[in-house]
Amino acid sequence: MEIKVPFVDLRPQYQKLKNEIDAAISSTLEESNFIGGQRVTQFENNFAKLLGVKHCVGVGNGTDAIYIVLKMLGIGNGDEVITVANSWISTSETITQTGAKPVFVDISEKTYTINVDLIERAITANTKAIIPVHLYGHAADLEPIINICKKYNLYLIEDCAQSHLTKYNNQIVGTFGIASTFSFYPGKNLGAYGDAGAIITNDDELAKKIRMYANHGGLVKHQHQIEGINSRLDTIQAAILQIKLPHLSSWNELRNKHAKFYLENLNGVGDLVLPFTASKVYHTFHLFVVRTKHRKALQEFLLNNGIQTAIHYPVALPNLPAYQHLGTNSDDYPIASTYQHEILSLPMYADLTDEQLHYVCTNIKSFFNQP
Ligand SMILES: *Cc1c(COP(=O)(O)O)cnc(C)c1O
Repeated sequence: MEIKVPFVDLRPQYQKLKNEIDAAISSTLEESNFIGGQRVTQFENNFAKLLGVKHCVGVGNGTDAIYIVLKMLGIGNGDEVITVANSWISTSETITQTGAKPVFVDISEKTYTINVDLIERAITANTKAIIPVHLYGHAADLEPIINICKKYNLYLIEDCAQSHLTKYNNQIVGTFGIASTFSFYPGKNLGAYGDAGAIITNDDELAKKIRMYANHGGLVKHQHQIEGINSRLDTIQAAILQIKLPHLSSWNELRNKHAKFYLENLNGVGDLVLPFTASKVYHTFHLFVVRTKHRKALQEFLLNNGIQTAIHYPVALPNLPAYQHLGTNSDDYPIASTYQHEILSLPMYADLTDEQLHYVCTNIKSFFNQP
């Protein structure tokens, strides 16, 4: 029997929270206060409290969040920022937007996050910051990164778009650097119903600058201390996120439960390489990424059987046309350049059913001719 397994299905979550979410949206419409206000402040406070930081500033999306942090740290023309070869383009395009140059470092073979052994050789006199990405929900190896930042006096900015409540050494990621950025894009572990994002920091001065810059350079209307941009968290999105926030931990637990099912049932199947979790890490499985030399055939086979998969990412950042002007060479990023042909993201979201998980595993085994 064929059943459908979408890569991500946001409908079951909405159905479960429909009464609360509809009520929150409708109250916001009744109030007709659509920019800023109590609902935004409340969500910011609750998010900061959940993560254990002093400040949270809601912004328009997770991409702006990175751009704003870089700008407010004074990064721009002539500077270099080190980041990782396998990520979503937001991580690097925002570096360029400030006038600085992104410098890519290859990924580690096991965790697919930045290879900490390769960071120091990428540092020059112009390096100002490092942006590790806690990719797929797994933390980058922060301890050595923090040491390197101290040694060379660099800012650590964590891209937490895929790692809401991921932990490293029992500490929530996003709380290690000078500032960290979150995306609430609908499919993220905590997702809005449109674009939304946030920045967290413990630095009072930086928090104030960030809030100003994201709001046309002023905290009070018409009092522009500096020139800024318009990147604010929508009041309606804040109202929705506020309803969803208390569920985040249990959704992450469900993702872990699904991951465990995949790990148990796909162990030793074909040439599949399953995700690795470092012992220091609490993984939040934003994505469940496997590797196989037969990716194309497997992906087609699964799709023919009603199972959607995705690739994160099909082209490593330095190999994209967008970065050829930097003179990047795929040989300099051998792991990312090899893995881009092999990685496959299986369906993963909190509301996956046992029946769906079972069906995905059965089909993968059948593709590899295993009982
Ligand atoms: C989703 C994502 C972003 C950007 O978030 P948006 O809210 O879509 O702008 C940044 N970095 C990474 C690693 C992401 O996955």
